[in-house]
Amino acid sequence: MVVPPQPTTRGQGVENLVIIGSGPAGYTAAIYAARANLKPVVFEGYQVGGVPGGQLMTTTEVENFPGFPDGITGPDLMDRMRRQAERWGAELHQEDVEFIDVNSRPFTIRSTDRKVKCHSIIVATGATAKRLNLPREEEFWSRGISACAICDGASPLFKGQVLAVVGGGDTATEEAIYLTKYARHVHLLVRRDQMRASKAMQDRVHDNPNITVHYNTETVDVVSNTKGQMSGIKIKKHDTGEESVLEAKGLFYGIGHTPNSQLLEGQVDLDSAGYILVEDGSAKTSVDGVFAAGDVQDHEWRQAITAAGSGCIAALSVERYLVSNNLLIEFHQPHTEEVKKELTPRDVQEGFDITLTKHRGQYALRKLYHESPRLICVLYTSPTCGPCRTLKPILGKVIDEFDRNVHFVEIDIEEDPEVAEAANIMGTPCVQFFKNKEMIRNISGVKMKKEYREFIEANK
Ligand SMILES: Cc1cc2nc3c(=O)[nH]c(=O)nc-3n(C[C@H](O)[C@H](O)[C@H](O)COP(=O)(O)OP(=O)(O)OC[C@H]3O[C@@H](n4cnc5c(N)ncnc54)[C@H](O)[C@@H]3O)c2cc1C
Repeated sequence: MVVPPQPTTRGQGVENLVIIGSGPAGYTAAIYAARANLKPVVFEGYQVGGVPGGQLMTTTEVENFPGFPDGITGPDLMDRMRRQAERWGAELHQEDVEFIDVNSRPFTIRSTDRKVKCHSIIVATGATAKRLNLPREEEFWSRGISACAICDGASPLFKGQVLAVVGGGDTATEEAIYLTKYARHVHLLVRRDQMRASKAMQDRVHDNPNITVHYNTETVDVVSNTKGQMSGIKIKKHDTGEESVLEAKGLFYGIGHTPNSQLLEGQVDLDSAGYILVEDGSAKTSVDGVFAAGDVQDHEWRQAITAAGSGCIAALSVERYLVSNNLLIEFHQPHTEEVKKELTPRDVQEGFDITLTKHRGQYALRKLYHESPRLICVLYTSPTCGPCRTLKPILGKVIDEFDRNVHFVEIDIEEDPEVAEAANIMGTPCVQFFKNKEMIRNISGVKMKKEYREFIEANK
């Protein structure tokens, strides 16, 4: 039985520490703080500043994080950090923080679902991918334009096509290399006359015969064919002023990031680019009790290990701060093993059973499509898609709430490409709802829990 943790001294109602963010900085801070019996409350985020797990959820192999000599995928690394934080008693909420007040004490934090008072805060909200704001960007967003090659590269829309990546840094070069797995050819559009990427990444791009690098090239807009599909990219050469259209079915953004510090504007000191200012070599911000870690305070190094290191510094600083201000309340949490409810592959291995709610694969989908009187929720995922891992447990919980009224099927678009193609899937994750052999809703990306819940409630 799980016994709710009890504070060993008084002071209920005010938390020791709230951590905002669940990238390497947030989870490392959570591990350290939980090990120190602070029972940190962690807002992992959901949508506003990136997915839970942070930027590494959108990458494939992480080759430079110590302890993994053979590399590890970004989502696996973040899963491990999350489990470690949870194991030591961190309280995790997959919610976006919408409001912070650090002008009065205890501090106030309000998320989409709750309000929390706390004595200290670690801001580890990371950074978000920038957009180009092209004239037709909204029209083609998720229908040709994407900010995540790792999430969308395997979709039928892009397979075997000519694609382009814009940017000249490590993100753009990594995306270009990754896309050559699926694309016929990849153009890398670099605004300047050289790349900012590391020498190693530049060499990998130049050595790849499936990538053409275009220097001095401005991305002006995308163009479409008579069917309204994206068919090319309007580009302009800086050096000659010449404009032309490059044939391409997809455009991926790899143009850098903006720090997610908007919540703290006017409350703690930020630099001119929006990065949180911390005292040299520490995690201290301009407000006592508010600490910052990871990319939101680091415009220079921006690595998983530096983010994790600064998360550690922030958590240790919080402990000192609480002790020296006589605010620390220790929580001793009984250790409990997490019971994981996995989606069963039983119907795939042992035959289909329509009485089960959750299914996987195209066989189950076809059977349900023809035989189920229930509302059918289909989740399209791909193995390297970080946001898919975020959405799966969230959607799984919503489906559990409507157990006998809905059927759920997960389709891996790499395992079942023909189903993805027939369903016109442009990127993952994507959720489609069917009733009486008709598709009644298509939801791309990760949306708020209540959006799925309300739709099922109204259509079950
Ligand atoms: C494609 C790609 C590949 C990379 N590869 C590597 C690599 O191989 N090795 C390496 O060392 N580094 C790599 N990096 C860099 C590395 O991912 C970052 O340096 C690191 O993730 C920063 O960690 P962080 O904890 O500061 O923030 P992030 O990882 O950005 O996480 C920020 C977190 O804050 C949450 N958040 C934001 N706003 C809110 C809010 N309002 N409420 C609640 N939560 C919020 C987000 O949901 C997210 O969980 C890569 C980055 C990218 C984009």
